[in-house]
Amino acid sequence: MPRPPRYRGRFAPSPTGPLHFGSLVAALASCLDARSHGGEWQVRIEDVDRTREVPGAADAQLATLEALGFAWDGNVVRQSARPERYDAALQALARAGRTYVCACSRRQIAAAGRPGADGWIYPGTCRERGLEDGPHRAVRLRTDDAPVVFVDRVYGDIRCDVERELGDFVVRRADGQHAYQLAVVVDDADQGVTHVVRGADLLLSTPRQILLQRLLGLPSPAYAHVPVALGPDGRKLSKQDAAHPIEHARPLAALLAAWDFLGQRWESGAPGTVTAFWEEAVRGWRLERVTPRPPPPLAEQS
Ligand code: GLU
Repeated sequence: MPRPPRYRGRFAPSPTGPLHFGSLVAALASCLDARSHGGEWQVRIEDVDRTREVPGAADAQLATLEALGFAWDGNVVRQSARPERYDAALQALARAGRTYVCACSRRQIAAAGRPGADGWIYPGTCRERGLEDGPHRAVRLRTDDAPVVFVDRVYGDIRCDVERELGDFVVRRADGQHAYQLAVVVDDADQGVTHVVRGADLLLSTPRQILLQRLLGLPSPAYAHVPVALGPDGRKLSKQDAAHPIEHARPLAALLAAWDFLGQRWESGAPGTVTAFWEEAVRGWRLERVTPRPPPPLAEQS
């Protein structure tokens, strides 16, 4: 049997627009952390949410990564090619009695729920109703009060009571699509990802993902969340924010800006070429220099 790698990282952009500075920061941190550990680094296109996908965006993102000198291992994984894997996980959760069908609209949840750390906490309306699955019905995970505890490599000790702080969350949406939380957990496990390095806007997704890993009997990778670049309004830069796409014509400038943003330093002056950047950055990367900052208002995930 081939031995599993000691370190396999990944970058997982959603194809909702061109790669902007915020996603470059996550790409660079995940790639440098992997390479500086002698590890592998893969790219996964998170196109599970077909409603948010912008045609051509995935290819444009990959072209930008290449123009900046990123080199990934293996083939690019696309979530749109993997619905059977997500269905299998849903079935396993259902067999274990950990999911239920939910017919509530957003408005009903807002009226009966309470605000939580990441959006409305589901009030439990359908938890014991035993509804049949059908059109316009979502599937939710039945959370519990066993705390999820993990040590983030940047943010330190994190403890979350998923049931109380986040509530029962959607694993299959009412439009039939698999939810981000479920797809990520299945993908990270199938790809053999050992280390996740990503933006701190996903810090509260991690307890939900660790809970799903537990329930599905999957290993949990190590997690490091890095601060996210914010726009002038204090919110996370979004890929729809066309004001900040990466300029292919100035790859070194973009890489150096992301390096500085991550609190990294050069021992003897900034490198003058993209090739020199990668050589020196892999040698000089220190995750401990990344300073945690309060996470931004959370991105809406379904
Ligand atoms: N697809 C997510 C995004 O573009 C990242 C998910 C992850 O790294 O787990 O924000």
